[in-house]
Amino acid sequence: MTEPKRITREAPTDPPREQPKDYFSPQQTYNVSGQPLVYQPQISPPQYADLRRHPRYLVTRPIMAIPVLPDGSPDMDNVLEGITVDISASGIGIEVPVEQPPLGKTMVLGVETDEGSMGFVTATIKYAAECGIGFRLGAQFVPADKDLLRPERVTPTFNAQTYNFTTGLSNDALARWGMLGVVRPMLLDWVQVCYQCQSLLTFRRGCPQCGSARMATSRLIHHFACAHIGYTLDFEGEGCLQCPKCLTKNLVVGTDFEFLDGPYRCMDCSWNGTELERIAQCLRCRVRFPSHRVLEKELIGYHVCRLDPMDFVPDA
Ligand SMILES: [Zn+2]
Ligand SMILES: [Zn+2]
Ligand SMILES: [Zn+2]
Repeated sequence: MTEPKRITREAPTDPPREQPKDYFSPQQTYNVSGQPLVYQPQISPPQYADLRRHPRYLVTRPIMAIPVLPDGSPDMDNVLEGITVDISASGIGIEVPVEQPPLGKTMVLGVETDEGSMGFVTATIKYAAECGIGFRLGAQFVPADKDLLRPERVTPTFNAQTYNFTTGLSNDALARWGMLGVVRPMLLDWVQVCYQCQSLLTFRRGCPQCGSARMATSRLIHHFACAHIGYTLDFEGEGCLQCPKCLTKNLVVGTDFEFLDGPYRCMDCSWNGTELERIAQCLRCRVRFPSHRVLEKELIGYHVCRLDPMDFVPDA
């Protein structure tokens, strides 16, 4: 596995926000051929026009741009480091050292915040123009409900098809995002699951030997007066209940006696005894086993520190 690339934390000095014209002046920036570059693009592709519906603010911060692979994992070999140029509510302009502009690609962008931590957002590269270090890219933020790292993709949720908890992104993809520092694992809960397939279980009492629920029990009668306990059948006298020990007749339930559960007998195996066991059954693979064999599984969710573009807007 490739070592995650490290972001240089030496932030370039922010240009004074009152003087945006200086920052944009053509003398400051050159394209790869050494030609001065005028930032305002001559041709504005229709997609890029999208980025301009919101006012843009000049922001120069270190940025990490991570290409996203088709399976939703980061392309760890091609993580780019660059700087931001400007930011709006809907998109961001960045400069990165690339030879080919990643037009149309989806990337997770990490921008250093005032506190020195990184805020992350998913964006699509909509525009590219050559600049001094490689390319100036215009990236449009992906809507929150389509963001690669939106909460439902990084939080385990119950899957009614497989009866277990899954995240939208694979564990492997999440581990890779974790190595890059984009997501941070958090313990959410513990669940008891099947030791075979890790799916959810039902629980009930049953036969300690075979797990069956088909248990027969003989009812017993406890005669309070003489403390005799015996099978119900032995108390049946002529038209009334009679204690076989002290021979008292016309026994009344609650006043003279109580019913007790006798020993259990399993109708599926030969077991008999007085204590049933708590039995788990897997909802998916149907395996049945004593509950002391359940697997306790951690539910791990992932926290993403999200980039709020409005954090970069200067105070009015
Ligand atoms: Zn049994
Ligand atoms: Zn009796
Ligand atoms: Zn199972």
